[in-house]
Amino acid sequence: AKSLGPGYLRVYDHFFGENVHSRLQLTADLKQALETKSLSVAYQPQFCAQSMKITGVEALLRWHHPEHGQVSPDTFIPLAEQQGLIGDITDFVCQTAIAELSTADLLGTSIPRLSVNVSGHDFDDDNSIQRFRNRFEAITDWSLIQLEITETAAINNFEKTFAVLTSLRKAKINISIDDFGTGYSSLSVLRKLPIDEVKIDRAFIRDIPTNEDDRTIVRTILAMAHALDLRVIGEGVEYKAQAEFLKKHGCSELQGYLLAHPMLLEELKAFCNSEQSH
Ligand code: C2E
Ligand code: CA
Ligand code: CA
Ligand code: CA
Repeated sequence: AKSLGPGYLRVYDHFFGENVHSRLQLTADLKQALETKSLSVAYQPQFCAQSMKITGVEALLRWHHPEHGQVSPDTFIPLAEQQGLIGDITDFVCQTAIAELSTADLLGTSIPRLSVNVSGHDFDDDNSIQRFRNRFEAITDWSLIQLEITETAAINNFEKTFAVLTSLRKAKINISIDDFGTGYSSLSVLRKLPIDEVKIDRAFIRDIPTNEDDRTIVRTILAMAHALDLRVIGEGVEYKAQAEFLKKHGCSELQGYLLAHPMLLEELKAFCNSEQSH
């Protein structure tokens, strides 16, 4: 995460060492951040590979800790999962993103789709379907919503995930499989899930310009996804050569620092306005 500065990594190392006290303290701080709503949501635009128009945004949670500065979601999301806070986190992200994008009149206009990351734990309890439905209550057209669930989370809890996703997809919600290709899951299992999109993991995109094996893997994912009639998005696109390769092999959408960084609402508004004026 090159743009985040050195403090970011220091916090990560600090809290994932042996320091149990810090871990408990960080959990308590996270609880408080949730209660006082001092978390924020950043939005990273996604683009049609052909037209370069915005197809959606991915909501990414941000936590500015009063002492430690920015704490990476890679640190606090696993903690939230362990501590039973993830349901509240998912509630917060959905509620905030929907409220912000609707108030700014962006959702369904300049931004055709909102993608939200969900955790395997969001599918655990018997009330999952209703809880998801409540999250999207404020939206009439649920085809504007997409859930990103990692391949590993989907496979680990296949039966529950299957039931919940099937119900939500009947209500028009889109389903994307995140970090695709990293979970070693068999395709025959994965294709039983009701999905609309696969998101090729950044790890395969990174070395496209130099690594022939990665190019082969990406081409294979694209061919397979096309055969199954799925949208494909490449994440972590940082270089033109990566974007060109993905486009040439029929990847429908692109996301990454080359095109746009995650940004808070005000910056997103300005970004959408400047997009429209070209
Ligand atoms: P992810 O879902 O795979 O999200 C993509 C991550 O890659 C984000 O990091 C994003 O800022 C970063 N990224 C985007 N473009 C580029 C690029 O071109 N190059 C590189 N190197 N990185 C890029 P972030 O925001 O730090 O999030 C990390 C992970 O934390 C996410 O990975 C996701 O698993 C989790 N996460 C973030 N927000 C949420 C949330 O609201 N709920 C849940 N359950 N998980 C979240
Ligand atoms: Ca994601
Ligand atoms: Ca991902
Ligand atoms: Ca990831």
